[in-house]
Amino acid sequence: MPHVDRYAPSPTSDLHLGNLRTALAGWLLARHAGGRWLMRVEDLDRARVRAASGAEGRQLDDLRRLGLVWDGEVVRQSERLERYAAAVDALPTYECFCTRREIAEASSAPHDGYRPYPGTCRDLTPAQRAERRAGRPPAIRVDSAGASFAVDDVHAGRVSGLVDDFVLVRNDGGFAYNLAVVVDDMEMGVTHITRGDDLLDSAPRQAWLTAQLGGRPATYAHVGLVVNGEGRRLAKRDGAVTLRDLEDRSPADVLALLTESLGLGACRSTEGALAAMPGDQRFFSGVTWSDGELSPSRPTGR
Ligand code: GLU
Repeated sequence: MPHVDRYAPSPTSDLHLGNLRTALAGWLLARHAGGRWLMRVEDLDRARVRAASGAEGRQLDDLRRLGLVWDGEVVRQSERLERYAAAVDALPTYECFCTRREIAEASSAPHDGYRPYPGTCRDLTPAQRAERRAGRPPAIRVDSAGASFAVDDVHAGRVSGLVDDFVLVRNDGGFAYNLAVVVDDMEMGVTHITRGDDLLDSAPRQAWLTAQLGGRPATYAHVGLVVNGEGRRLAKRDGAVTLRDLEDRSPADVLALLTESLGLGACRSTEGALAAMPGDQRFFSGVTWSDGELSPSRPTGR
């Protein structure tokens, strides 16, 4: 079975240790399986991309400096808008005029890690729709008909989740992440998706959409996040957390830190890390960054 994974950074800030660790995990899994590792820049949020000027170049540069070399050309979402439009045309959809506030007020309790859209606009009459269109541009939602879907994750096992009528096109006309990621993974021939476990909750919806579009859902490896001393997801405010900030350490030092945190021992090259890969894949747990060290996080009870 082919093994094609991808790394999909959003160029809205520099990559921190958590991002680099996830990229390394995906690279290792792909190379260990003799597969391919592709690169996709998720640059649909034009305003945030512009505000983080040059981030894409720095991200790709940092990955290269660690020895994480990808196969083929970099794919950019901003160059693929007509593909997303074609996918929307192929799906059952409806217009949604709800504001955030209306959705919050109408929503039920969180379900499978998120608040499903309650379907408010699904059954609007043509007259109601015309009236609401005069006041507010619509978002486009997929009609999931109350589906549920299960995915396989090498770490979390079989994870099933409700598929709500999620947004495909936002009301500013921008294509939603959940749509673009699916269209791209299908077209890039992705069979395995290694990414941060903050995205585990979105996997059943994305896999369901893949099946709706005639694709075969990937196998997932959701990697535990790097958190700070307070247990919160690592961020810029945690100080020196990017390759550039860690000036007193060489790329090989950082690689050793990351490979050790993945349970492979301190490896100063990607080839060394590959040689240290075990047969089983139980090195995906989260770690804590504190006092310049990465150490195993205490279980959060997830
Ligand atoms: N662009 C997303 C992020 O940076 C990753 C999406 C994915 O891997 O599916 O968090």
